[in-house]
Amino acid sequence: MQLFQHGTLANLVPGLFNGTLSIHELLQHGDTGIGTLTGLDGELIILQGTVYQVNAQGVVRIVEADEMVPFANVHFADFTAAGAVDQVTDAQLRDTLAHKLVSLNVFSSVTLTGTFANVTTRAVAAQTRPYPSLKATAAAQSVFTRDTVTGTIIGYYSPKLFAGAAAPGFHLHFLSDDHQFGGHLLHADVLKADLQLQAFENLDLHLPINEPEFLKLDLDSDEIVSDIELAEK
Ligand SMILES: [Zn+2]
Repeated sequence: MQLFQHGTLANLVPGLFNGTLSIHELLQHGDTGIGTLTGLDGELIILQGTVYQVNAQGVVRIVEADEMVPFANVHFADFTAAGAVDQVTDAQLRDTLAHKLVSLNVFSSVTLTGTFANVTTRAVAAQTRPYPSLKATAAAQSVFTRDTVTGTIIGYYSPKLFAGAAAPGFHLHFLSDDHQFGGHLLHADVLKADLQLQAFENLDLHLPINEPEFLKLDLDSDEIVSDIELAEK
């Protein structure tokens, strides 16, 4: 079981938003996942080999094979059913999920399919060169809400130890069943959902070694992880 990751969240902190892997290549490494496009253009939700983008207008569309990602996580879905999650508030959700994981020391994927209330998502607007810092893109986010919606929460748990490469803890995206609503998940109360989990023994971290800007980046700043936590919480 392998988790593939292109780029790191740390690369995004100083503004390395240029896409460095095509969707076509990304899908060679998995059929399920999350990510973003060149310029930090929206939020990607990858389900059953189809890549959906939620853009800053809240529009959901299917992404083309030649579009590029600066950051994405994918894996081939081989989930294990982990029971029902019913009547769990957003405040309880991450703790509830953490208790179901095989271990807090292992990268895992999580999906919750069902009905959710008070769902809030965000999508970052496409940035243009010169790219701002990740923190500065907070002003360019759109926030979307639904009172009640059926859909899928898809994302990953990363051990805190690997903060910088990934967002520590849970990084979750959402797509509604009608494909009209989604984004990076900020808040959701679970009314009734089925949980599926998949733990990974391998992390295949793919870095953009042909990207001159990446090769020159100074990623040793102590602020990198705190800026990721601010941006991805
Ligand atoms: Zn996200």
